[in-house]
Amino acid sequence: MRVPFLDLRVTDKDSRQELLDAIGMIFDHGRILLGPEVEAFEERIATYCGTKYAVGVASGSAAIFLAVKSIGIGSGDEIITTALSFIGTANGIALTGAKPIFVDILEDLTIDPKSVERAITSRTKAIMPVHFTGKLCDMPELQALAEKYGIVIIEDAAPAIGASLNGRKAGSFGVAGCISLNPMKILNACGEAGVVVTNDRDVRDRIVALRYNGLINREYCQYVSTNGRIDTLQAAILLKRLNQLEEIIARRREIAAYYRATLADVVEVPTEREGYRDVYYTFTIKTARRDELMSFLGERGIETKIQHPLLMPQHPAYKAMDHGRFPVANHAVKRLLCIPAHEKMTQEQVEYVVSTILTFFGFKRDA
Ligand SMILES: *Cc1c(COP(=O)(O)O)cnc(C)c1O
Repeated sequence: MRVPFLDLRVTDKDSRQELLDAIGMIFDHGRILLGPEVEAFEERIATYCGTKYAVGVASGSAAIFLAVKSIGIGSGDEIITTALSFIGTANGIALTGAKPIFVDILEDLTIDPKSVERAITSRTKAIMPVHFTGKLCDMPELQALAEKYGIVIIEDAAPAIGASLNGRKAGSFGVAGCISLNPMKILNACGEAGVVVTNDRDVRDRIVALRYNGLINREYCQYVSTNGRIDTLQAAILLKRLNQLEEIIARRREIAAYYRATLADVVEVPTEREGYRDVYYTFTIKTARRDELMSFLGERGIETKIQHPLLMPQHPAYKAMDHGRFPVANHAVKRLLCIPAHEKMTQEQVEYVVSTILTFFGFKRDA
């Protein structure tokens, strides 16, 4: 049996036709840039995330850069973020001229609020929690810190659309939430796309300007920026796929629950805190025998991923900066492995992943 990590084909006849029709509509009306699909998409995303506004942008990385810039953060400012994330988090901060200050994580791979508090200085302007693996960070703790120190939260909710705490969605906790809609993500375009969600009208207006070279109308450039608009074609596709999002999340959560129930004796599995709904962008396990397990699964047709072999501060681009220590993140990063958990998996594939992992550890499945 083969178990791909992801399957991005569109094989279902009806889904394929629906997407082709959505693209056909754009050819009919001819508003190839922005246009009605982008507006409708932004409205739907804002409603879904429980925010007043959403602005479609070119990618999750663009979302981060534009959101930071929209708050007026730049040179001389610091933003505290986690050591463990995709490098786009750090780049989005650094490209504005601000300095990313990396801090350690909790065992669940989300940013450690205590480490955040220790890193706060007079230059700190914001905290950027990352809802890594599709798991919401401890938002009440982080919100309390932001309030105490008079700083803002900008969420890197790139992999976490739909994650929630007591019904409140990822992206709606901070002054802005940055979501990626690239083909790997849970809600995925057929190319690059992202969105920023916010309740702040000024932030929304600035991002609209920033996403197209800082122009506040056709003539006046108010801010130094670049082109970071979303494609109308992608918005049209995303509008259709939004209809399936809750189903996708439910199936991923079902697979996750099954993995948790069957694998907890042999590897460390992600758990959920009370009131939180995680969306499992990845189902990331921890094991000291990570590399061995990865080869064993690979030889048996199961594709797994080491998502980030390096912490952000360890990348060459950030190495020269002065960093703290990250004992928890350093320990975790050598042991993390993402196993397939996408919604297109059949139950047979899920079972096969479980039994192969149990076999590796010398366990047999209970009948
Ligand atoms: C995917 C991702 C990004 C970047 O999004 P792109 O759409 O690929 O630019 C940033 N941060 C995190 C945590 C991500 O998972």
